[in-house]
Amino acid sequence: MSKKGIYWFTTDLRLDDNPALKMAAEAMDQLLFVYSVDIPVRLSHLQVGPTISQNRQVFLSESLHCLNEQLQDLGQHLVVIENTQPEMARLIDDHGITHIYRNSDQHGLDSADWLKIQTHYPQINFSEVSNNRLFRLEQFPFELGELPDSFSKFRRKAEKLQIDSPLSPPNHLPPPITDPLPWPQLGQASEAQTLFKGGEIAGVRHMETYFQSDLPSTYKQTRNGLDGMDYSTKFSPWLAQGCLSARRIIHRLNQYEDEVVSNDSTYWIYFELLWREYFQWYAEKHGEQMIAFSGIKDRSPNTSFYPERFQKWCQGTTPYPIVNACMRQLKATGYMSNRGRQLVASCFVHELSLDWRYGAAYMEQQLVDFDLGSNWGNWQYLAGVGADPRGHRQFDLNKQTQIYDPKQQFINHWQGHTDNFPLDSTDPSDWPIDLKPAEILA
Ligand SMILES: Cc1cc2nc3c(=O)[nH]c(=O)nc-3n(C[C@H](O)[C@H](O)[C@H](O)COP(=O)(O)OP(=O)(O)OC[C@H]3O[C@@H](n4cnc5c(N)ncnc54)[C@H](O)[C@@H]3O)c2cc1C
Repeated sequence: MSKKGIYWFTTDLRLDDNPALKMAAEAMDQLLFVYSVDIPVRLSHLQVGPTISQNRQVFLSESLHCLNEQLQDLGQHLVVIENTQPEMARLIDDHGITHIYRNSDQHGLDSADWLKIQTHYPQINFSEVSNNRLFRLEQFPFELGELPDSFSKFRRKAEKLQIDSPLSPPNHLPPPITDPLPWPQLGQASEAQTLFKGGEIAGVRHMETYFQSDLPSTYKQTRNGLDGMDYSTKFSPWLAQGCLSARRIIHRLNQYEDEVVSNDSTYWIYFELLWREYFQWYAEKHGEQMIAFSGIKDRSPNTSFYPERFQKWCQGTTPYPIVNACMRQLKATGYMSNRGRQLVASCFVHELSLDWRYGAAYMEQQLVDFDLGSNWGNWQYLAGVGADPRGHRQFDLNKQTQIYDPKQQFINHWQGHTDNFPLDSTDPSDWPIDLKPAEILA
């Protein structure tokens, strides 16, 4: 019997170093490449909004178009669907699919459709292979359940492990099962102020440009910048969609260290990629606890939900100029620096006393580099319900502004100075506050 497979793309939108795709391509007689834009967004019933931001949509759309062109060069094409379960079922039924493959690094929280289809089609052969991580579970001296509860402990056990060499992209693919099918409407570039171009080709070009410059050799000194393309690697959007492989980046970093320089800064790029690695395994271990109010702890934080404060934080109209500037940058571009993310999250939890999950959900919607483990894991860390042994990280926003934006160039660029409204427009007993005499008389 002829083997007819579906390769189900998720967060691995590339041909390079894609072991799951390679396995499918070698084993199948015919192959259908499918991606579903039915993307889960947590807490979507809130003001956070029903769907992902324009910036995220545009980056995704560009990544899918790029992938389709790469597949066409190999005589194939990409089928894009939007209602995962019924449309996947139709493809399976109409074409007599016998095998389905995907990247196994998709987190359990985002695997509901995969599991339902598995249950529905017990006769189909399902295979998953890890595409996006640096290490394989069997390389660790611990089981997943014993993943260390802090990054430092994890790093000590992982950083000297051998990283598999990246695989080269396939140079031929099995023939397609269908003719190209029409795609649903996707985000368009003119609708967003994008900093990054989606897709493997742009991602690889960006990585090459970065490693052909001097920037890696000073990364550790510059990495806390707030604005601009050069102070950090900017690999995250391509890593999040899987347009770049983490192993490929490490391979290129090692080459830079051999050929140009190996110093504290080049080590620190690896160090940060280990943070990413840690949060991937952390999310796999903790599953539903990633989005629970008490995180991985057994006590919930002493915070609540205040719609007005939440709106002000999202719109960048809080009394804190540095936070406003970061939030406006995020809304406009879909990106924010790591330093900025730490400050806005600390403000959210400590100054605004808000339930951290709403902040994480808003960032999930906005960030072009949204990644489940990195976003929810970092939020937990800053809210004191995650992998932080100290459990309380409050940043002094004035001091941070003095250090990282002493001339307020970043704040002025993103118009972080608002009229410094009071945080709330009513007092605890619901009386309006700070009304000016003219308003009272009006
Ligand atoms: C509240 C909060 C939310 C975050 N949400 C995300 C997210 O959704 N997606 C995401 O990729 N990163 C997230 N981060 C981590 C970090 O801010 C971004 O990875 C980084 O800013 C991306 O820019 P870069 O590629 O230039 O990073 P660089 O500084 O150049 O770092 C290189 C790579 O290392 C990894 N990395 C760096 N810092 C971290 C970190 N703290 N945690 C995990 N990985 C890291 C990323 O893959 C990054 O691309 C979040 C951090 C915080 C504090």
